[in-house]
Amino acid sequence: MKIYISADIEGVAGIAHWNECDKSKEDYKKFAEQMTLEVKAACEGAIQAGANEIWVKDAHASARNIDHSMLPKNTKLIRGWSRHPYGMMQEIDSSFDASLLIGYHSYASSAGNLLAHTMSGQFQSIKINGMLLSEFLISTYTSNLERVPVVFLSGDESICKVGREFSNNITTVATFKGIGESAIGEHPTVIIEKIQENVILALKNDITKCNVIMPNSFKVEIEYKKPSTAYRNSFYPGMKQVSDTKIVFETNAYFEVLRMFVFTLNS
Ligand SMILES: [Zn+2]
Repeated sequence: MKIYISADIEGVAGIAHWNECDKSKEDYKKFAEQMTLEVKAACEGAIQAGANEIWVKDAHASARNIDHSMLPKNTKLIRGWSRHPYGMMQEIDSSFDASLLIGYHSYASSAGNLLAHTMSGQFQSIKINGMLLSEFLISTYTSNLERVPVVFLSGDESICKVGREFSNNITTVATFKGIGESAIGEHPTVIIEKIQENVILALKNDITKCNVIMPNSFKVEIEYKKPSTAYRNSFYPGMKQVSDTKIVFETNAYFEVLRMFVFTLNS
């Protein structure tokens, strides 16, 4: 069994401040270690369920957060960004049996995590086919584009709820509950144990039940914080500007959504 893991940091146990996500800050070290330990737990659970090959995408900021030396030897770690449109799911292909998402967080405009965002801080909100777009949903569609089901999600309680509403059979582990600018969480070691136990359960279930049917068309509505960003990105081929801060992109191919994000992000 070949497993793909995509990992972020804004949804690891107890994280509650941007300094804890920022490599240049002292507060970061503890949470980068927790991210590594949560990924390690997912790897160990996967191995206990029969995985013999695991690829891990470090998918936060510079993508140089996870300490590979702490992961099992049968793991490959993808550090940095190739800028392939698959982004947080770089190198996923149909040779994988299942995907696991670790440390994921609520979408831009959500109250469920004080670190809530989607891809970058420039978006007020993004919708796809009317649903508020989270990185969970982006990665889930990307995985399913390669016919690989996402069977497990860990992150804040709110994104776990989003995950279960979207995909009935996904297994989730909530790492904390966000309220206002606070995070309420269990002991980090308890979370690590839950991740390992639940990854085993997720992979021993019928993983085909986590397959998602891809929509035939995609309408992406992007609301920026700054009008100047909306104006600039309105020139992307096929993009329509509908207000000072909002642009809309429609396509039948999900890959075109991902390609559009590569060229309209980070500006
Ligand atoms: Zn992140």
